[in-house]
Amino acid sequence: MLSNFLAFLKEKNQLNKNTYYFHFNLIEPKEINFIPGQYLILKIDKKTRLYSIASSANQKNSFDLLIKIIPQGLASNYFLNLNINDKVNFLGPAGVFKLKENSNKKIFLSVSTGIAPFLSMIKSKNYNFENDYFLFWGLKYKEDVYFLEKLKEIKNNSNGKFNFKICLSQEKEIFNEDFICGRVDIGLEKNIQIKNLSFFEYYLCGGGNFIDDMKKYLEKNCVSKEKIFFEKYY
Ligand SMILES: Cc1cc2nc3c(=O)[nH]c(=O)nc-3n(C[C@H](O)[C@H](O)[C@H](O)COP(=O)(O)OP(=O)(O)OC[C@H]3O[C@@H](n4cnc5c(N)ncnc54)[C@H](O)[C@@H]3O)c2cc1C
Repeated sequence: MLSNFLAFLKEKNQLNKNTYYFHFNLIEPKEINFIPGQYLILKIDKKTRLYSIASSANQKNSFDLLIKIIPQGLASNYFLNLNINDKVNFLGPAGVFKLKENSNKKIFLSVSTGIAPFLSMIKSKNYNFENDYFLFWGLKYKEDVYFLEKLKEIKNNSNGKFNFKICLSQEKEIFNEDFICGRVDIGLEKNIQIKNLSFFEYYLCGGGNFIDDMKKYLEKNCVSKEKIFFEKYY
């Protein structure tokens, strides 16, 4: 059963040329309970747009969204024009994209704002990772990168259980251990031996082409369909 949440915009930060972080404080009800990986639904002009919650499930009185602005996009323009203190209605939480409770080592594969559900999953762990998590996140250029310090902080406090690589598809040379030049599949290959790919469980989030390509790539490398979970954004 979905609930209706009335919230107001508390903070809005531009993270790179087309990505914004929105922090909403709840008005009614005052608390949100969700499973990391779930999304909220925005209704505009009788159309609906879905947004993964990017904040920790332990953050109860507010929530964060990470939004890529699409030129001329209906919801994109709505978000771009939101001012601090503006009130917004969301429905939710909804969706079944969530971590499986088992002892498998988990790999997150994402591009752009597809990192949002993984941020929620990672932050909700509160630095207590019960098994190994490895995030590969695809962006184009070094100047597109945001949240680097936060990811480093989580990694440094995870007892070696959380690692990440940011895969920059349009960069040719970068000397920084957190970055890899190339797409997400290149990042994966440089860190996990191909023969070992089938030992992990995979969570994919991003646009349809990314999901389809990564699924094909994983299946070609002997990862069974049962170990691949995904959230397609468009
Ligand atoms: C479960 C789920 C969770 C989602 N979570 C997020 C999230 O956390 N953050 C987020 O930014 N988006 C997320 N999306 C995508 C979001 O719902 C909208 O589709 C997106 O914001 C575009 O909406 P719009 O109204 O601005 O553009 P529209 O008016 O719907 O589209 C304008 C044009 O842009 C194309 N388009 C739509 N989305 C994209 C895109 N991401 N990149 C490039 N082209 C696109 C469309 O095909 C269309 O041609 C999610 C989608 C799903 C299904």
